[in-house]
Amino acid sequence: MKDIRSVRNYINGGWCDPEESRGSLDVENPSTGEIIGTMPISESGEVDRAVHAARDAFPEWSRTPVTKRVTYLFTLRTMLEEHKEEVSRTLVSEMGKSLPDARAELKRALQNIEAACSMPILQQGDKLIGCAQGIDGEVILQPAGVFSAITPFNFPAMAPFWFIPYAIATGNTFVLKPSEQVPLTMEMITEYIDRTGLPAGVFNLVNGDKTAACALVEHPDVNGISFVGRSSTCHLIAEKCVKANKRFQAMGSAKNHLVVMPDYSKMDELIRNMSTSCYGCAGQRCMASSAIVAVGDDMYQKVCERFIQASREYTVADPLDPDMADEAMLMGPVISSKAKRFIHEMIEKGVKEGATLALDGRDITVPGCEKGHFIGPTVFTDVQPGMEIHTTEIFGPVVVICKVDHPDEAIRIIRDHQYANACSIYTQNGYYARTFKLEAGCGMVGVNVGIPAPVPFLPFGGTDESMIGDIKMQGTSAVDFFTQKKIVIERYWNEN
Ligand code: NAD
Repeated sequence: MKDIRSVRNYINGGWCDPEESRGSLDVENPSTGEIIGTMPISESGEVDRAVHAARDAFPEWSRTPVTKRVTYLFTLRTMLEEHKEEVSRTLVSEMGKSLPDARAELKRALQNIEAACSMPILQQGDKLIGCAQGIDGEVILQPAGVFSAITPFNFPAMAPFWFIPYAIATGNTFVLKPSEQVPLTMEMITEYIDRTGLPAGVFNLVNGDKTAACALVEHPDVNGISFVGRSSTCHLIAEKCVKANKRFQAMGSAKNHLVVMPDYSKMDELIRNMSTSCYGCAGQRCMASSAIVAVGDDMYQKVCERFIQASREYTVADPLDPDMADEAMLMGPVISSKAKRFIHEMIEKGVKEGATLALDGRDITVPGCEKGHFIGPTVFTDVQPGMEIHTTEIFGPVVVICKVDHPDEAIRIIRDHQYANACSIYTQNGYYARTFKLEAGCGMVGVNVGIPAPVPFLPFGGTDESMIGDIKMQGTSAVDFFTQKKIVIERYWNEN
């Protein structure tokens, strides 16, 4: 029998089992169904201890020069670079994405550290000399206190790193509550955070479920909350934060559209690009595409035929199978039996709604992984906008294909959708690309790219139901979120 890892909390610079918990949860390898860890369900008392540690560490940390603060991040980056394979494999074992995907995720986490290391430049304020006679005005960016992030299952390493490096570099202290479905990756990364010698209490890790999350959101000593998860959870968090006059940012669900214009002729690149966007991470990325809109009869026919063929050929396997582990176009399982059940229900719904189930992935088996939560690529054609399979975030490898006669209709479909995280257009026509860029109502737009995910030096976030609140993640937006602007107006008299 393999080792079962007991996940701990990390509070005030030390590892601990919770003093208060409601027992533990099993951590499952979704490819095999094997239990690979247990995680404490921390109660609010444990959250209290972590927040108090962060609150007590804040005064000294906020006065530590920014140049010194980022040195811990430089050290962490070096350590994670050295151990990236070990961390990536742990990530795959609890989340189920492919190993190349996990390595790419870790690379993004490292890039967020790199971006935050620019804080000596990013955190500079502004000064206006002579805003009135003998008076100067100054804007200074100060840390705001204790920040906390509550993160989802699909990016166990990257989602926490959308926040941790920026919060710490700007002089705040931090409490993280990762998803209860994938606690192992951040426990491992916290080992490296600990080894950097970061002062006690600056970073704290509390494992638990929504009880711990709510305790953080409601804690009077937490000044700001970063949340990533379902839109329904975003709303709950946002309501609590507004009530408590707490700063928040909340990134929610998505249904990302890929629009293919009739002029697009690079069909091989198109199909490969769309397949990786739709099936990477088994469709469980907030930037995954799950709706294709082809403009015109000819393009609709071509896309349906080629995309269904490519979907049929997509490899579905245990991502840690040594014979397959380095395969780029490989799809692992979905996260849990519950997620699999929901996706099956949505497929049944699509059939009842009258869409054509052109490829059904429900019956797939992966030899040796009979207890894994696998679903093969699934494609619906003849989909009408507004069907439930189009309006709902299915968060699995299920793709709907619609046909429109004119690009304006495609833009309307995107604008009418409740979710507005990302969308892309495939065209070489500059006029349509420009119109799409300006008119499509999403927070992130791609032209001839399947996943328009901004690198960490740029802001990241959707609009409408995909983002509640108005401050995005990453880049200069992160500086806005993690600092408070203080405006100083000063005047001095000549005493001679
Ligand atoms: P989830 O909302 O179920 O859980 C996310 C986190 O919230 C977890 O840590 C969980 O413990 C906590 N939580 C759950 N219910 C809560 C409650 N009632 N009160 C307080 N906290 C609660 O989301 P998930 O299933 O882990 O993640 C998938 C979702 O995340 C998808 O909808 C996906 O689109 C979204 N996502 C969005 C982005 C983005 O940038 N927009 C990025 C990644 C994931």
